[in-house]
Amino acid sequence: MASTAGPEIERLISLLAKLPGLGPRSARRAALALIQKRDIVMDPLVVALADVSARITQCSVCDNVDSQNPCHICAAPGRDQTQICVVQDVGDLWALERAGAFRGTYHVLGGSLSALDGIRPEDLNIAALIERAKAPAIIEVILAMNATIDGQTTAHYITDKLDDCDVKVSRLAHGVPVGGELNYLDDGTLSAAMRSRRPF
Ligand SMILES: [Zn+2]
Repeated sequence: MASTAGPEIERLISLLAKLPGLGPRSARRAALALIQKRDIVMDPLVVALADVSARITQCSVCDNVDSQNPCHICAAPGRDQTQICVVQDVGDLWALERAGAFRGTYHVLGGSLSALDGIRPEDLNIAALIERAKAPAIIEVILAMNATIDGQTTAHYITDKLDDCDVKVSRLAHGVPVGGELNYLDDGTLSAAMRSRRPF
C-alpha cells in the first residue's frame, strides 16, 4: 500500500492495526484522531501506556494481570475467599467483574485444552488451581469456561482432577449459548448464568 504519511506516522498506523477490532482503515482513522487530539488524547495516552507497561504484572495467586501482586481482587478483604471462579482468559474475568456477577476470587487458566492446537494440561495454569482447591478454606470451584468444545473438554478435565479435593464443583447454567464466548455476552445474561450455576 502506498504510504500517505512519513515513516513515524506509518509505524504508528501499523502498530494500531495490530489491535483487535482495528483493521488498516480504522487504524488510519485512529492515528489521525490521535494526531488531531494531541493534547487531550495522544499525550495522556503515551503516559498511560508507559505507566501500564512499567507496572503490569501477573498475580502469583490467580494469574490475573494487574498493576499489583497479589492482584486487587485477591487482595480485597471484601471478596469471598471460599469461592474460586475458573476462567480461560483475563477478558472473561473482566466480563464477569463488569457484570458484577461474582464476589469470590478467580483463577485464570490462560486458555483451554485443544487437541487441534496442541494445548495440553501442562500448558495451562491447572496444577496451581488444584493446589489452591486443596486448601480447607475453599468450599466451591465454579467452572466458567466458554461453551465451546475446547472449553467443555477443559471443564471435564478439571472436574476429574478436583475429584480428590473436598470442594463443590459447579458450572455456569442457562444463558450461555452453545459455542458462546463469555467475553461477548451481555451483563444480564452473564449474571443470570452465574446465579443459576449448577453442580458439575
Ligand atoms: Zn489474583
